[in-house]
Amino acid sequence: MKKIAIIGAGPAGIESASILAKDNEVLLFEKSTAVLSNIIDKAYLFPDFSSASEIADKLNSKLINDNITLMLNKEVVDIVKNDSEWKVVDKDGKNYFVSAVLITTGYQIFDARRKEELGYGIYKGVVTSIDMERMIRYNQVVNSINETPKRVVFLQCVGSRDEKSGNRYCSKLCCVTAVKQAIEVRKLLPEAEIYIFYMDLRMWGQHFEELYRESQEKYDIRFVRGRISEASSTFDRKIQIKAEDTLLGVPMKMTADLLVLMVGMEASCGTKDLGVKCGIGGEYGFVKTATPHLCDNETTEQGLFVAGSCKRPMTINDVINDARSAACVISDYLK
Ligand code: SF4
Repeated sequence: MKKIAIIGAGPAGIESASILAKDNEVLLFEKSTAVLSNIIDKAYLFPDFSSASEIADKLNSKLINDNITLMLNKEVVDIVKNDSEWKVVDKDGKNYFVSAVLITTGYQIFDARRKEELGYGIYKGVVTSIDMERMIRYNQVVNSINETPKRVVFLQCVGSRDEKSGNRYCSKLCCVTAVKQAIEVRKLLPEAEIYIFYMDLRMWGQHFEELYRESQEKYDIRFVRGRISEASSTFDRKIQIKAEDTLLGVPMKMTADLLVLMVGMEASCGTKDLGVKCGIGGEYGFVKTATPHLCDNETTEQGLFVAGSCKRPMTINDVINDARSAACVISDYLK
């Protein structure tokens, strides 16, 4: 039996571990104290409103395997080629020698405080899509003074497609997430006005376009093509928004009870750190693969593989498929 190290127990790490553990011994390292933290945070998943906790439970059950050793609170600080093996070093200085390493260190959410002009962390009525996900989950969509909001505004592309933040890429998931959350808010607040401010809507996935149409026709979600340049607080603690309607070419002002910032995805600290240490650091801190078309799980280092959103923003579905692909490539390599 060969030994494989997988760094990161998100959906990519767990899925690939469950496949590789059929013929190998897998050491699964996770730096936090729990697995799947990015899924557990969510209420429902687009486009079909599946329960996030049910998906997490199903993934979790794949860890019940004698060939998988899950190590929580175990940060990997270095990965070094050691002849034909790899040496994985944890934060306590302990070394593990393995035949192959799979990096699945994933993403982190853009810190909305970096867009100071939008008021996150300053005004209570400004929240992020992650905060909104929790509000929906606990059925508590309220404004800054715990009252039912009459007007909720979503703003797309916060920390993505943005020179100032240093992130020119599209995070891929926030357009459809805004539509999904707007529908969920409508179900909870039938009387509220709900707006989505967008640059352009990227409904690229299966059923995304249908969800977007349904959001307008069935749930009365209103779409404004424009960017919000500034948010401030009014005397009655509403949020005053300054924006430009780029279709009509006119500046506009609006007050809202809740402004939801659709924050993008960035490479996680672990992804950036291991990418640089292993010589596979790529654009924006995501890891670089050998070639994008034919060898998208391989790296330029033999025996070092990557999967999931440590490479770029991906949906959970894409992550799972990519993890399966990585498991297949690693099995081949070990043979
Ligand atoms: S998915 Fe939509 S909201 Fe997210 S960065 Fe791309 S265009 Fe902007």
